[in-house]
Amino acid sequence: MQVSPPDSLKAEIDERVPDLVALRRDLHEHPETAFEEVRTSGIVAQRLRSLGFEVQTGIAQTGVVGLLRGAAAGPDAKTLAIRADMDALPIHELNEIEYRSQLPGKMHACGHDGHTSIALTVADILSRRRADLKGNVKFIFQPAEEIVAGARPMVEAGIMQDVDAVIGLHLISGYPVGRVGVRAGAVFAGADKLRLTVYGKGGHGGMPETTIDPIVISAQIITALQMLISRETSPFHPAVLTIGTIHAGTAGNIVPGEVEMNGTLRYFSVAEQERLVRRIGELAQGIAAAMGGSCTVEAYDSCPPCINDPAITELAYQAALATVGQKKVDTNEDIVTTGGDDMSYFLNTVPGCYFIVGANNPAKDARYPHHHPRFNVDEDALPIAVEMLVRSTLNFF
Ligand SMILES: [Zn+2]
Ligand SMILES: [Zn+2]
Repeated sequence: MQVSPPDSLKAEIDERVPDLVALRRDLHEHPETAFEEVRTSGIVAQRLRSLGFEVQTGIAQTGVVGLLRGAAAGPDAKTLAIRADMDALPIHELNEIEYRSQLPGKMHACGHDGHTSIALTVADILSRRRADLKGNVKFIFQPAEEIVAGARPMVEAGIMQDVDAVIGLHLISGYPVGRVGVRAGAVFAGADKLRLTVYGKGGHGGMPETTIDPIVISAQIITALQMLISRETSPFHPAVLTIGTIHAGTAGNIVPGEVEMNGTLRYFSVAEQERLVRRIGELAQGIAAAMGGSCTVEAYDSCPPCINDPAITELAYQAALATVGQKKVDTNEDIVTTGGDDMSYFLNTVPGCYFIVGANNPAKDARYPHHHPRFNVDEDALPIAVEMLVRSTLNFF
């Protein structure tokens, strides 16, 4: 097998850009939402098999794993995992582009079509370097990232047992194309869903003295909850608490019996999560009790924060220097997001690094936020992301 020296990498990637872009556009036209990634995972498995990988399908329903065994790997060789997510969102695409979604109400509005085609291109490039490869590379294609339900069952299925480290990336439409953000520590927030149910005593709206009004109790709770952020949370360990829904009542002259509120909690450490969930319960229940009612608080569907390991992050940082040059690498806190990502389940099993690749370019109309019906990425970000993953992998071995 012919083996190319590392500095030919950019040329190898350039050769594959037409296929990379065509694949991304094909996936974009055929978006599949959580656990319905049947066509997508079929393409992934077929491509990995054609490269000679050991392929497992049907993990966590539609997840795919492909193992590339390096021919230069000794008995103690390490295995690096490269993770990509495959799912789209239940959004109706408003972009007028030739490769727009063919499915009404479904759209790749987070860039996972890019992630899947990037990882497949990396698989192709690394497979051609198999003779030189001193370790194994496990490609993980997960379903259902958008509902935070795909990564965890893949980990529970045991796919990380023989893995030593994991890397991955997210394309970001709000971050300039050409730049790469790599940082140790927490980079994506942890996220919990919150449900608060306030119980009072319903009755006639004209005779409030005969009722316990859960709407008034809820108003006090909503206001007081922000005190947990402004007065009890250190500005050096930020957190976000949003109540996004409040539902109660049937008519203006009736005091309802209960109120349901739903919200989200974002944080960057498990210690902060535990403290805030405990304090939300104490505060809400204390206020409700003081006003004659009661309240239940549930924190559920928790997604841990993504925390990057310093040593693996250094490998990705070196890859970024070689890919885009020092002036276009960001390591400061501006690249941290309060968005969540279930990459955290992989990062919690082995050391790893999740970095971001800029995909913003207003000249190409790639400027809308993630999950927006006009979301798009500048496809010039795709080869940068490929180079980052290939270089990080070569650095790891
Ligand atoms: Zn998303
Ligand atoms: Zn995403």
